[in-house]
Amino acid sequence: MNREYLFALANKYGSPLYVYDAEKIISQYRSMENAFQASKKLKINYATKALSNISVLKLINSLGGNLDCVSIQEVKLGLKAGFEPHRLSFTPSGVSIGELDKAVAYGARITLDSLSILQEFGEKYPKIPVSIRINPHIMAGGNKKISVGHVASKFGISKDHIPEVKKIIGKTGTRIDGIHKHTGSDILDIDVFLRGSEVLFTIAKEFEDLDFIDFGGGFKVAYKEGDPSTNMQDFGNIMTRRFDKFCEAYGKDISMAFEPGKFLVSECGYFLAKVNVVKPNSKTIFAGIDSGLNHLIRPMYYGAYHHIENISNPKGEEKKYTVVGYICENDTFAENRPIPEISQGDVLCFRNAGAYCFSMASNYNSRYRPAEVLVYKNKDYLIREREVFDDLIKHQIEVDIEF
Ligand SMILES: *Cc1c(COP(=O)(O)O)cnc(C)c1O
Repeated sequence: MNREYLFALANKYGSPLYVYDAEKIISQYRSMENAFQASKKLKINYATKALSNISVLKLINSLGGNLDCVSIQEVKLGLKAGFEPHRLSFTPSGVSIGELDKAVAYGARITLDSLSILQEFGEKYPKIPVSIRINPHIMAGGNKKISVGHVASKFGISKDHIPEVKKIIGKTGTRIDGIHKHTGSDILDIDVFLRGSEVLFTIAKEFEDLDFIDFGGGFKVAYKEGDPSTNMQDFGNIMTRRFDKFCEAYGKDISMAFEPGKFLVSECGYFLAKVNVVKPNSKTIFAGIDSGLNHLIRPMYYGAYHHIENISNPKGEEKKYTVVGYICENDTFAENRPIPEISQGDVLCFRNAGAYCFSMASNYNSRYRPAEVLVYKNKDYLIREREVFDDLIKHQIEVDIEF
């Protein structure tokens, strides 16, 4: 999306602002489909938690995608966005039977991630097939907070616990309809995927009536120019061949599902914020923006890199800035980063602001969450209003206590 347009959007809707390019989501979706061209078995289950605005979900629906939901609220959002219940897979971690009851009532597909819940669920719903999330004991992902398939991770049923799974379903009569894994995010190396997949293939052979294997998400996208990303084309080719071979040996054509979040929506997003203050000190020049970790926490939470442009002065001479927020904690977006000269009032644009940005935003410091705009075919649509004071106090109750 070009700078002039983004700049105009910041003026039109105010700052800070999230802008999403629908075309980019579509092209990422298509590129994934194309990479698996040979396979009719492919199912793309978009990881809702990456960016859950209902207009984005409707776009995914129009493309033929399904949803991967990690909370009952995401299931409800999916239904509201028009997905048929069987196109919603519910893959939560450590939820209560109460939440599963609701997912059952809505008709979503169920994935379970512990032996105890498999037992409890099976006793209650012996007729409902479920898939099981496997912990393949593989270290993958960009950093510790997003590596979720290693031996010490809380996620999934250990790959060594298949005999226990069989014992449980032997008693409850539950049919296992799918095998699932998700090993982390920002995984570049396709060998890591393939190694994890082999674990699933081995386990899958132990269950005779599967409908699918779900290999999760975690594909890496580029965060700056020259950054490597998962080679989807290579991965698609190799995976399709391997999967076909599996189906042949298994004696049934089943589906091959993936759960991309970042891959579909990271690059579509632009976060626009205004510079409130430029403050040089002896070590650096601070550029303080009208936002903070309350709106974009990825740099502080897991050291994520977001490329920052000064779209008010794109051709200005580069200087080194430490870009910080207005929250009363150290919320540093970038340290000593070369950026074209910044003046008070300039609009900075953060790239890769589609995935895990707005969806992780909060009201910390009693600030409003930003507005969101979707751009489709050169038209911009406001898809979420900026919050107002009422939103902050809507659920607060002023009780009658004599303090
Ligand atoms: C978060 C999540 C994903 C998506 O991960 P990305 O890195 O965004 O592709 C997929 N599956 C599950 C179960 C998840 O929790």
